[in-house]
Amino acid sequence: MRVEVVTIGDELLLGFTIDTNAAYISRVLAAQGINVVRRTTVADDHSAIVSAVGDALERSGAVITTGGLGPTNDDLTKPSIAKLFSKAMRENPDVVRALEERWKSLGRTGPLPKSNYTQAMLPEGAAVLTNRHGTAPGIWLQDEQGRWVAMLPGVPREMRGMLDELLVPRLRELRGGTPTVTLSRTLRTTGIAESALADRIDAATIDLKGAGLAYLPGPDGVDLRITVRDLHETDAEALAGRVAAKLKPILGTYMYAEGTTDLPAVVLEMCRSRALRIAVAESCTGGMLGERLTSVAGSSDVFLGGLISYANDAKVSMLDVDPAAIADAGAVSEPVVRQMARGARLRFKSDLALAITGVAGPGGGTAEKPVGFVWIGLDGLGDSEARSFRLIGDREEIRRRATQAALDMVRTKLTS
Ligand code: ATP
Repeated sequence: MRVEVVTIGDELLLGFTIDTNAAYISRVLAAQGINVVRRTTVADDHSAIVSAVGDALERSGAVITTGGLGPTNDDLTKPSIAKLFSKAMRENPDVVRALEERWKSLGRTGPLPKSNYTQAMLPEGAAVLTNRHGTAPGIWLQDEQGRWVAMLPGVPREMRGMLDELLVPRLRELRGGTPTVTLSRTLRTTGIAESALADRIDAATIDLKGAGLAYLPGPDGVDLRITVRDLHETDAEALAGRVAAKLKPILGTYMYAEGTTDLPAVVLEMCRSRALRIAVAESCTGGMLGERLTSVAGSSDVFLGGLISYANDAKVSMLDVDPAAIADAGAVSEPVVRQMARGARLRFKSDLALAITGVAGPGGGTAEKPVGFVWIGLDGLGDSEARSFRLIGDREEIRRRATQAALDMVRTKLTS
């Protein structure tokens, strides 16, 4: 089955909203072996919707739209597609009832606003895709030749719920037979450049047996995505597994996780299994390291807390950094980062403590300590380590890379 996706919304074309819906639909359908063959984005404009959906229907006979189903005047998807199918719009009593019940269940007083009733206007002959996550119902419209359009809301959470719960089962049924799938596996690395990784993998001359291998560099490191297409699920999983097994020894300790697992989760688990507790002291990352650790549910048994010691005075008063060290070597220096880490460990009575101090930019760089120059310290288990890094990117990226490098120092320490 070949499907086209049309995402609808002025804000998408203006660039204020990133089109995550189209990406999500492509991913989910690929996993079902359904190919999204083209994606189009159009404005909240009647003729633009008619022409984009009409062209897509001509080509593939199978179209998913998102957006423009709301109660406001700029929500034109339904009437535009009804026109394409030469259908009149009619109020659907079941949808009216559902909207009224939802209004009451949310504790709203007074009658359902008039504009909400437009959400119950459906093209004649359309099937309702019930929206358990919001008000705008999704719509399935099909013609005599079996060509169909599925209209989903624009709000990503609502769209995802309806796609997963209603549309995917419907498409599986429509497709029938034993499906082939497109399946991906991701191996996550950090601390190695994309080019160095590629050299290692090229040197190993692995037979990928038709699997695709993509290098996806980002501030957290390089993800390697293995993709297998057009195989039955068990064969696809077996092939992806074989390729992953060949790659893992080549990636060595640079690999920290598989799938979507984040480095903080890996580090927390390593500490948990060794009954170690950790604290942090942050300067240029301003709490980002603590934020990343606490965003992992259940981190409280490992992560004790952190101090944001941004000003020099704060480093001295909160972490007992020697003012002479700051005066002699500067706030971004080895002695200071070691003292910050030790101060955090003593203050929190943790087993390990990480400290970060650096020049995140865009200003403040010097020839000796340019923007992106960061010291990271790790204190604990009878040892003190410090490493300097030259990180690239803008302020946000440098800060993110610094937190990743810091976490990786813990991982490396506990691995060796
Ligand atoms: P509602 O009934 O809730 O208004 P709707 O179908 O009318 O839903 P839109 O008004 O088009 O949806 O969009 C609602 C919000 O969903 C937008 O403000 C935008 O933030 C988000 N959104 C819309 N389309 C997309 C998209 N393709 N990708 C990501 N987010 C989107």
